[in-house]
Amino acid sequence: METEAIVLRTIRFSEADVVLSVYSPTHGRLSAIAKGARRSGSKLGGRLQPGVWTHLSLARGRGDLSTVRGASTIQAHAGLWLEGYRLRAASSVLETVLRAIPESDASPETFHLVTRALGLLCTAGPLQSPPRLDPIVLGFQAKLLVVGGLLPRLGSCVICGAPGPLVAFSAHAGGVLCAGCARSGEPLEPVARDGFAQLVGHPLSEAHEVCPPAARFGVERMIGLVLQEHLGVTLRSATPV
Ligand SMILES: [Zn+2]
Repeated sequence: METEAIVLRTIRFSEADVVLSVYSPTHGRLSAIAKGARRSGSKLGGRLQPGVWTHLSLARGRGDLSTVRGASTIQAHAGLWLEGYRLRAASSVLETVLRAIPESDASPETFHLVTRALGLLCTAGPLQSPPRLDPIVLGFQAKLLVVGGLLPRLGSCVICGAPGPLVAFSAHAGGVLCAGCARSGEPLEPVARDGFAQLVGHPLSEAHEVCPPAARFGVERMIGLVLQEHLGVTLRSATPV
C-alpha cells in the first residue's frame, strides 16, 4: 500500500525498531513499524521524524500494525527544528490529530489543514504567548472542529437565539449564551468569542492578525471544552483546567 502521511509520533519499540503513528489522507490514523530505523545510518530513521510529510510504502501485517517498506520525504518541515517554540507549537498540532481525530477518519481536508499548519509554523515566532496558544495552532484546532462538524454556535445565543450580549459559553449546549441563559455555561470574554469566530472565517495564514493575544487563552478554553464534551479528550499540551 502506498500513501502520503504526516508522522505524528515515533515510539522506540526495540533496540533497532520504531513504531510510528501517522495520519494519511486516504487511510486515517495508522500505526506502522519501521524496522531498523534506530540503527545508525538508517535511511528510514531520518525520514520518519514527527512533523515530516512523507510518502510511505507499507506492507499490511496480520494484525493492525503495518511495516514500513520505504519512505521518501515530500516536505521535511525542517524549519520546525530550528526553534524550540515552533517545535512545541507543532507538537500541539500533532497531538490534536493523534487524540482528537477518530482512527478511521480519513479526510483529505484534514490532511491539507495539518500540512498547512505545519508549513506556516516553520517560520513562526518566537512570540510572547506559550506555543500551544500560537494563533496557527488555535486556528488549526478551530478549523478541525469545522471539518469534524463540532463547531459551536458563536453568533447568537444557542438556547434562545438572542443576538447579544453574549456572556457565557457551554460546550454541552453547543455554543455561546446570552445573559439570560448564562447560568448553564461558564463566563466568556467577548474578545475570545470574536477571536474564535475570526479564526474560523479567515485563512490560517491570517491567524496572527485576527486573533489578538487577549483572545487566545479563551479560544483555547472553548476548543478544550468542545473536545472534552464531544470526544472525551483532554489535550496534554493544553492549559490545565
Ligand atoms: Zn439566551
